[in-house]
Amino acid sequence: MAKALDTLRARFAEISSFLGRAAKITMKTQIESAIGIKGGLQLLVSGVLGLSLLAPTISLAQSADRLEPPDWFAGDAHVHRGIGCGRSNEKEMLTPRQLFEGMQTNNLAVISVLADIGNGEIKYAGRDIPMITGEDNAVSTGQRLVHWDAEWHFDPEGVTFSDKMIGGHLIILGLRSGRSFFTQFTYPVFAWATKQGAIAGFAHMQYLPYAFYPPPDGIPQSLDCCAPLEYPVETALGSASFLMEDVHGSDAAIQAYYRILNTGFRPGLAASTDYSCNYGEPFGTLLTYVRIPDGNLTYRKWGEGIAKGRTVVSRNAHNEFLDLNVNDAAAPGDEIRLSEAGPVQVRIEWRSLKGAVGRVELVHDGAVVASQTGTVAPGAPVVFETTVVFRQSGWLAARRMDWQNGHQTHTGAVFVIVNSKPIRASASDAQFFVQWIDNLIKQTSSGGKWSEFLSQDREAAHNRYRAAKAIFENIAVEAQRQAVARAASEKAAAH
Ligand SMILES: [Zn+2]
Ligand SMILES: [Zn+2]
Repeated sequence: MAKALDTLRARFAEISSFLGRAAKITMKTQIESAIGIKGGLQLLVSGVLGLSLLAPTISLAQSADRLEPPDWFAGDAHVHRGIGCGRSNEKEMLTPRQLFEGMQTNNLAVISVLADIGNGEIKYAGRDIPMITGEDNAVSTGQRLVHWDAEWHFDPEGVTFSDKMIGGHLIILGLRSGRSFFTQFTYPVFAWATKQGAIAGFAHMQYLPYAFYPPPDGIPQSLDCCAPLEYPVETALGSASFLMEDVHGSDAAIQAYYRILNTGFRPGLAASTDYSCNYGEPFGTLLTYVRIPDGNLTYRKWGEGIAKGRTVVSRNAHNEFLDLNVNDAAAPGDEIRLSEAGPVQVRIEWRSLKGAVGRVELVHDGAVVASQTGTVAPGAPVVFETTVVFRQSGWLAARRMDWQNGHQTHTGAVFVIVNSKPIRASASDAQFFVQWIDNLIKQTSSGGKWSEFLSQDREAAHNRYRAAKAIFENIAVEAQRQAVARAASEKAAAH
């Protein structure tokens, strides 16, 4: 069965140069992004093969030992229990008890069970929405939290409903109550969530085009089920606080994350399954480790940790962890302040429950600046230490790469601020987002090929687009200025 599914997934791998930088990474592109995973392929697979994907089977793959330190907690922030996707042939929604038991496979501390507050393609949303109360479900224990929240989406392609929008799928964590409503752009949903004190972000970052697709590189020219087209807009305007890769993830999500970090924004990085829209693989097959500084797990603190970037994501379930430490003081989400240009010490430790060969890479402002290939075994981590000189404000992250499948684990960024200056690491990345938003405005204006999607809310949506574009234009100018000044001072120092 697994083999048949693999064939149907029709993945292909290509090696591409990464933003023209030094790093060469192996990437996968998933065909489901083009055809709309939820609308087409999964129903087809289930129908043809007669699959019956039940609740994840219970097996304790994880030993009692934690790979992550005691103040880190592994969870899956994107799980559906309704009828649809990999559970299209089921009659009943998963019960809280079944959800709880499903957490054991990957020894998860948290799952967010998301009600479909969008087009209702996951059936029986009406039974899920009242479960959003702001409280953990009664089945929860101190070590395992089952908590209802919501995903909002109205796909432009794929599943056909009368209401459609192009902004993306929005994940909202920490709601006190839920309801379904439609709007043609994402901001009203974020505003509604924020009013409840909830935390919101974009799902499905893996469906963004990878940079080698022309023209122009990496800017979406066609629509699919789920690609988060408004992520630069709402990240820049401060209403979205995290970016999530899910289903199988991809390096395209990571590339998007690097670009937005390079312009000075600090969204959290999350990974999750989108169960059962992930072919019914167990909860936590993709997961997010979240650091809670006081070590006391609550759902609220777990979600806040995602928003604050205190995360490590894994596409290899709960089987490995990547520990990034800078100056023996800072972990993902933290900031180090230097009064002037200078070095920082970096320590990366790759721990695994299984023997494996892989490469640990250190990423500085989107480029791999140091790496080490090593063999890991249970109890025998790969430890990699190095020094990085910061001439201007920037960021560091670590990733564990697999030669075929790209990143397997990836840390959130540690920020290094030099002389109190903001991070303006790349004028071209800022310019990329200007072009992205120009494209959004053009396609959604009257006469544009996506104009129908903003038939009601065009002016309000375009106001958001223009405001975000102005921010990126300023950042591009500042980044350019900083690059010129740095080049001049380096030239002077060389004489
Ligand atoms: Zn979705
Ligand atoms: Zn989903």
